[in-house]
Amino acid sequence: MDHNAPDSIQDLQYFGEYGGVNPSISDSSTYTFLNAKTMFDTFEGNTEGCYLYSRHSSPSNLYLGEALAALEGTESANVTASGMGAITAVILQLCSSGDHIVSSRTIYGGTYAFMKNFLKRFDIEVSFVDITKPDVVAAAIRPNTRMIYCESVSNPLLEVADIPALSGLGKSSEIPLVVDNTFTPLSIAPAKLGADIVIHSLTKFINGTSDTVAGAVCASTEFCLALKDVNDGAGMLLGSTMDSLRAASVLKNMRTLHLRMQKHSENAMYLAKKFEELGMRVVYPGLPSHPGHELMKKQFVPSFGFGGILTLDVKTLDKANALMELMQKDSLGYLAVSLGFYKTLFSAPGASTSSEIPEEEQKEMGLGEGLIRFSIGLDSNIERTFLRMKACVQALGIAPEHTVIS
Ligand code: PLP
Repeated sequence: MDHNAPDSIQDLQYFGEYGGVNPSISDSSTYTFLNAKTMFDTFEGNTEGCYLYSRHSSPSNLYLGEALAALEGTESANVTASGMGAITAVILQLCSSGDHIVSSRTIYGGTYAFMKNFLKRFDIEVSFVDITKPDVVAAAIRPNTRMIYCESVSNPLLEVADIPALSGLGKSSEIPLVVDNTFTPLSIAPAKLGADIVIHSLTKFINGTSDTVAGAVCASTEFCLALKDVNDGAGMLLGSTMDSLRAASVLKNMRTLHLRMQKHSENAMYLAKKFEELGMRVVYPGLPSHPGHELMKKQFVPSFGFGGILTLDVKTLDKANALMELMQKDSLGYLAVSLGFYKTLFSAPGASTSSEIPEEEQKEMGLGEGLIRFSIGLDSNIERTFLRMKACVQALGIAPEHTVIS
């Protein structure tokens, strides 16, 4: 697997006006033309280097798009106002009324709600399947299937998708494989493993400062241009455009993504091992006990680790709530949704980010009410963090009784 993505991002140099080390921000929604013919040509999409209107594209958005394409090793990338803005535009670009999607059943709750509830309005049907079983995915494909959709490591159950196998299935039926790589930027590069379209919620690790909502679609130049087409591009017409000011700030944060991902993964690995030693029910793809561990090892870039997300199942929602409140009180993290922040964030997905999924279905997919999702922060002394977390677990009597907590 290629380790050069961070340097490919750093290699992209953009000088600002007056030689600034950061590119100037395009602070305009519209652009002037010296002659009317060029404006007409730009509308038609065939004038290189001209900007028309910032919902279509802007210099700042294009710079960030280039960095994201370098990250994922795709030809091109479009940036959007949110991760959902990227996901919904891709789905509606690929699918029309009467079409069908095969999707992983464990995906972010908003994506699940969009597919399950919203797409009904357009008569687009979705089969939700166990994505870890390629034969089940193959059996779900129909003549009208227009995409296979999954997350590389799923939210919140951390199931690992076999991207080369899914891509093989897609290719044999000429169906694009769309992968949401929000949980594992740099650790997994889905396009290099065969995915056709890679989506990100930049809101999370890539931006990393929990100060914005943003998204991206990384794909072929042909697909990225089609999304922006003024006549029938879902990105252009649904209007989920990123603001240029924000694109500039996300690009600056991307410059340190490699260092942050290494630290998130290192800290998560340490805590996962320690929680497991305590006899707690911990799920982390870096643990040999994780069913997708071997698969993840085949697909990831070792220097970026297994990612910054782990889950602990403390069985009941009451216990989960008590533990999260205590940890927040002890400044070990914030009881908050989202992920990829410098501070550890924790939430109970069944009651929050996956609450769009009906309780029955949550049970079926193994999403227990006492499951806590942790996005592990950039703590400098993770041993100290663990000792303090252990004290919280101990104070609430959450670790199994047979465990001697030293
Ligand atoms: N994809 C995943 C895996 C997510 O976790 C989220 C949000 O939590 C999204 C997509 C949606 O992104 P956004 O909130 O930026 O719209």
